[in-house]
Amino acid sequence: MIKKINCTFSDNELLLLIEGGSPAENTPPEALVKSPLFRRADAVRREVYGNAVYARGLIEFSNYCRNNCLYCGLRAENSQIPRYRLTREEIVACCDSAYQNGMRTFVLQSGEDPHFSDHEICGIVSSLKQKFPGCAVTLSVGEKSRESYQSYFDAGADRYLLRHETANGGHYAKLHPSDMTAENRKKCLYDLKEIGYQVGAGLMVGSPYQTPSHLLEDIRFMRALQPDMIGVGPFIPHGQTPFAKFPRGTLNACLRLVAVLRIFFPHALIPATTALGVVHPYGRELALQAGANVVMPNFSPLSTRALYVPYNKKTGVDGEAAANCRRLRESIAGIGYEMVVDVGNVKR
Ligand code: SAH
Ligand code: SF4
Repeated sequence: MIKKINCTFSDNELLLLIEGGSPAENTPPEALVKSPLFRRADAVRREVYGNAVYARGLIEFSNYCRNNCLYCGLRAENSQIPRYRLTREEIVACCDSAYQNGMRTFVLQSGEDPHFSDHEICGIVSSLKQKFPGCAVTLSVGEKSRESYQSYFDAGADRYLLRHETANGGHYAKLHPSDMTAENRKKCLYDLKEIGYQVGAGLMVGSPYQTPSHLLEDIRFMRALQPDMIGVGPFIPHGQTPFAKFPRGTLNACLRLVAVLRIFFPHALIPATTALGVVHPYGRELALQAGANVVMPNFSPLSTRALYVPYNKKTGVDGEAAANCRRLRESIAGIGYEMVVDVGNVKR
């Protein structure tokens, strides 16, 4: 059954699924997830992953970035945010707390911060692999040379998240300055794959100038790449970027894309992203019902969490990590899934 779904959609049929048509865009999300597309996505997800939701402890270890992606609040030219870096000891302490709370994967994310040399990143990875045997380390530190990626892998890194952002070169050029290209982004993803990482691609839904046919290209690109993880979340404007005045991506468009991706990539690890939780109080739970099967509770120190702002977050809702994690576990159980203590590798 899964194989058949994978092969039989024409571009037009796929566009219809992405754009919605029916149910309409203003359908309440709670009703949307009960519609046939979403039921199908949930059935596919249950067939491969049952009701398990894998959890990853997210550690945002530096908000310095040398790049200037037009959509992102961490861009180098944003001089209005205080910058921070965690030390290796602080990173290990965050992972400790994540481990105590049932995380068996740690996701280390940052801007492209040249302060962290390859040697330092390898040191951090290998100390985590030593201290937490059997756990996975995921890196999300941007575009690097193939040699750098190889060195992190040799140090023990298991997975790498690098959203392709958009597969269309023209669209990519509207979202980034001229020193960044879709070609290099894609080359990085293929390098990572060839080295042997479990690789995550992905995109923002509703990013400025995005059209439905761009999303189609994204799906076609990912069908060729076959990523193990696919991260999608709404574009959310950040006040101190050139895109401050663009509208945010909608929850419904995101949920629909999550459902389509689950059907097209039955084995993928698809997170219910934090950005979805920003646009709707139950955004993450709805995404799980739409086919997502991963959550990434934040284990960054409370003191720096408000400074890691690719997009404007809600203020005052982000409490202590262990309590957040407990609440998330309960709300996931409340909708019939189970947040499991598991390294959570991709099933192939
Ligand atoms: N520097 C690394 C990792 C940090 S950024 C990298 O770029 O890969 C992680 C992700 O945040 C980006 O891939 C992007 O998709 C997302 N992001 C950045 N700005 C955003 C915004 N304004 N709204 C929603 N997501 C955003
Ligand atoms: Fe830097 Fe990543 Fe933000 Fe681009 S998206 S400015 S690379 S942190």
